[in-house]
Amino acid sequence: MTLPLDDLRSAVGAEHVLVDADLTRSYESDWTGRFSGRAGCVVRPSSTAEVSEVLRICDAAGVPVVVQGGNTGLVGGGIPAGGEVLLSLTRLDSLGEVDVAAAQVSAGAGVTLSSLQAAARAAGLDFGVDLAARDSATVGGLVATNAGGIRVLRYGSMRAQLLGAEAVLADGSVVSRMAGLAKDGTGYDLVSLLCGSEGTLGVVTAVRLRLVPRVTARCVALLALSSTQAAVDLLPGLRDRLPSLAGAELVFADGIALVRKHSGLPAPFDEEHPAYLLLECADRVDPTDALVEAVSSAEGLLDARVASDAAGQRALWAYREQHTEAINAEGVPVKLDVSVPLRSLPSLVAALPETVRAVAPDARLVVFGHVHEGNLHVNVLDAGPLDEEVTDAVLRLVASLSGSISSEHGVGRAKVEWLGLSRSATEIAAMRAIKDALDPRGTLNPGVLLP
Ligand SMILES: Cc1cc2nc3c(=O)[nH]c(=O)nc-3n(C[C@H](O)[C@H](O)[C@H](O)COP(=O)(O)OP(=O)(O)OC[C@H]3O[C@@H](n4cnc5c(N)ncnc54)[C@H](O)[C@@H]3O)c2cc1C
Repeated sequence: MTLPLDDLRSAVGAEHVLVDADLTRSYESDWTGRFSGRAGCVVRPSSTAEVSEVLRICDAAGVPVVVQGGNTGLVGGGIPAGGEVLLSLTRLDSLGEVDVAAAQVSAGAGVTLSSLQAAARAAGLDFGVDLAARDSATVGGLVATNAGGIRVLRYGSMRAQLLGAEAVLADGSVVSRMAGLAKDGTGYDLVSLLCGSEGTLGVVTAVRLRLVPRVTARCVALLALSSTQAAVDLLPGLRDRLPSLAGAELVFADGIALVRKHSGLPAPFDEEHPAYLLLECADRVDPTDALVEAVSSAEGLLDARVASDAAGQRALWAYREQHTEAINAEGVPVKLDVSVPLRSLPSLVAALPETVRAVAPDARLVVFGHVHEGNLHVNVLDAGPLDEEVTDAVLRLVASLSGSISSEHGVGRAKVEWLGLSRSATEIAAMRAIKDALDPRGTLNPGVLLP
């Protein structure tokens, strides 16, 4: 494949077309080290107009394009398979002024989540999505994956924050819906369609986002529980009694042990327990009393720690948030992010060890999740050459429980083969028809999401 390098240099400036392996390397492998591939070149536009020109050139030349934001994705969707133009959006990092009256802001695709959060907070508001990769993940990537994270329980995932978007289609044409209308009944919702499309339908260059009220009085509790079922059983009561509930995260003893091994954190309790639920409440007035009252007589509660001060809260959150880094420090994991109907979550947790052991006897399993969404992050270390077999066994177990093979990370390259476990042939054909209509030459992210 001959790359139109001169045309690309004219479009974005020669210094923003990288071909030297030393310069392209950091774009060519993912955060986990599981996915890597050589790009033909890396192109770094700085505006929607430049993105449009790059796509027009590549589409006309029949050159495939891989789209990348902060490269924190965990399913290989932003990593080249070999030879593509890698389009990095990180230079589109302009952030508009916060519209306090409308509680909205416009952000370029390359703005990081933490920059967005800081701008919202400086204006007395906040952003509804939060996740541990906040310092690198970009709003373009968050939209493309319909990212979830630790506040979905309160504010929904990325789609719920999205009021508008500007995007460049494969042929270079631009669609722009950035007015931030609270209601708009004029036909197909293209903005929503782009959300979760993993860079296969268009390149998001800017977004208009909803902001949420800023609540600064917080309380975090780590509950030791007798079982996963006890954690699930707690949820209806918590929803009823704690309108301030903002997060409910499930972790287990082996995950905490791994976090402690790599962070030096002390043990949270004197002894290990079957399951742990990390709860966060956020309100205008201190929610500590309400949280303590709501959980103190909970069935299956074995022990608890509560933190009302910021340092104590950070320390409790560390047991959950450092899971991904601790797992990665042990080796390259098979990472599967799944969800099942909430009532089936205990069955999934119970069945996983035997399911993994049956195909990879020496593998180590570490799971944690956003309990409210029936979500589980399934990490398998030391699977060796059996990663495909492990993936297959776990995803089939999830499908047998009427679950989804991707809860929030997307399908990427990692799970394309298994898409049919979660979507019917008719649905996949409809998705393919949309893809073919918007990107007839298959320029954008080939091999991602759709077989
Ligand atoms: C420590 C850690 C914790 C995480 N926790 C969570 C979590 O709790 N919840 C969660 O949902 N995810 C989580 N993730 C995954 C990841 O952060 C999200 O998927 C995030 O949305 C990716 O954003 P990014 O900018 O890094 O995108 P990238 O990794 O660069 O790309 C991800 C996908 O989006 C596409 N894409 C990127 N930018 C654009 C664009 N502008 N237009 C069109 N397509 C684009 C890419 O082609 C690719 O398919 C975590 C990751 C890490 C490393």
